[in-house]
Amino acid sequence: MDYNIDMPGQTIKETVARLLAELPDGVEVVAAAKTRTPEKVLEAVQAGIRIIGENYVREAKEAHELVGKRAKWHFIGTLQKHNVRRKVLEMFDMIESVDSLEIAGEIDRRCAQMGKIMPVLIEVNSGREPQKSGVLSEDVEQLTRDISSLKSIKVMGLMTMGPRFGDPEDSRPYFQETRKILDRIKRLQIPNVEMRYLSMGMTNSYKVAVQEGANIVRIGTRIFGERVPPS
Ligand SMILES: *Cc1c(COP(=O)(O)O)cnc(C)c1O
Repeated sequence: MDYNIDMPGQTIKETVARLLAELPDGVEVVAAAKTRTPEKVLEAVQAGIRIIGENYVREAKEAHELVGKRAKWHFIGTLQKHNVRRKVLEMFDMIESVDSLEIAGEIDRRCAQMGKIMPVLIEVNSGREPQKSGVLSEDVEQLTRDISSLKSIKVMGLMTMGPRFGDPEDSRPYFQETRKILDRIKRLQIPNVEMRYLSMGMTNSYKVAVQEGANIVRIGTRIFGERVPPS
């Protein structure tokens, strides 16, 4: 049995039901599945989760083999060029972590060969943390414009992690900033760009993120319990 962090004794089924009931309409949950077994991922899907978020290609393949088309698959990890392969692009319905024209170009080239258009989010390094992936706020518009000319990849919004804090209130300014960038780029009406999704908020911060306009939240611990070892 999996134990929820703040409600001990609850199963995945119970925590998912609570979570879905609590979120406003129009907010999608991505179950962040890193380190979880395919069986746990399936359990979450059977409990009502519709989107699985994967950080690692190898784990994604294992879970995908079991769960398949019963869920949508979002890539939320750091994407390296050597990972942008046909099998990976076939598996994922969205890539939330695009942060360079180089990786976007590789996705575009491969997807063109497959006849697929890949929806992507641009990852914003809203905390300006040197060790973190994502583009800086001032570079988001240019990257969006550059990607907009590629035919087999489509920018559908923004994703941000923000710095990790103990107090979720501390995340609010980073979420607000990301929301502002989304709104500003939306107003530019760049062809082949649809700023529809704002993916932000994790277990400890998703409530604040939703208040600040997130319509995708990425939640791991709250659904599956603490990760052992934490990562
Ligand atoms: C792990 C992870 C999450 C979820 O984190 P929790 O704190 O377990 O909810 C969300 N987004 C990304 C990109 C992650 O790697």
